[in-house]
Amino acid sequence: MVRLHVPAALSALLLGVMLSGYAGPLPAATHAVQQAASPAGHPDIFRFKIGKLDAVALKDGDIDAANDGKTFGVGQPNGAVSALLAAAGQPTDVLHLSIQPLLVRSGKRVLLFDTGAADASFARAGRLPVSMREAGVAPAQVTDIFISHRHQDHTGGLLTRGGALAFPNAVIHISAPEWEALKKDGGNAALVAAITPKVETFEPGATILPGVVNAVDVRGHTPGHSAYEITSGNERLLYIGDVVHHYVVSVQRPEWTVEYDEDAPAAQSTRRAELKRMAENNERVYAVHFPFPGLGHVTKQGDSFVWVPEGP
Ligand SMILES: [Zn+2]
Repeated sequence: MVRLHVPAALSALLLGVMLSGYAGPLPAATHAVQQAASPAGHPDIFRFKIGKLDAVALKDGDIDAANDGKTFGVGQPNGAVSALLAAAGQPTDVLHLSIQPLLVRSGKRVLLFDTGAADASFARAGRLPVSMREAGVAPAQVTDIFISHRHQDHTGGLLTRGGALAFPNAVIHISAPEWEALKKDGGNAALVAAITPKVETFEPGATILPGVVNAVDVRGHTPGHSAYEITSGNERLLYIGDVVHHYVVSVQRPEWTVEYDEDAPAAQSTRRAELKRMAENNERVYAVHFPFPGLGHVTKQGDSFVWVPEGP
């Protein structure tokens, strides 16, 4: 039903155009129609609206996790993960994760949610700077960065290859427990030193930009893992960070152990609770690791859930 929205709007518009005999360029009736009418944009960017806010998904890269029982479905019987993947029409040898930070314009502020993996060894990534340029945004224009958690596929883009701040004018918002965890991690001294003057911590679940961005406490994956609720008028979008990683396995089997979760039992109960909340409230969701652009809804299916992507 979500998929039908854009074509239905487009055909209504085309019908109106035909009936009125209008022969010029298509009027910009709605943003959704504009997207449908010009699908040939850069493949690494996807523009959409959150109420009155302009948003754009920015592809950074990909992660491939071997389906060897060590990452997803840890401890499950042989073939259980493969059966789910096959039923979804996916290859069964590898679990594919996309990486797409989210950019939102709110008045004069330019908000960036996570920063991609840069040259992390476990990813094929680092396209964020190019994607951002294609979207017409310069790094110096970013005013606020919201970090979901300290893993490298979310913080990798904070610094340039030379170790300078990649977004020199941006405040870096990170939850207080996650910042403490980042400072304790080995090997992060250069990152911590570089970003410390820009970091503003918040308590889990805090309001960060009133009326625009609230943090959502989703601890478990990491000690201070945070999702973000982005609002404009009556519309909102939930940026879910790594509550769920894979659009089939994580959504359909939230209790299965994922190697990436630092506190697996806490992450599993958070995952089920958040999926339930998303489905019951029909939340519009932005999933940083789902197939690009990662925009859609979660619906209930029996005792479990399924992902319903949104887009043309
Ligand atoms: Zn991640």
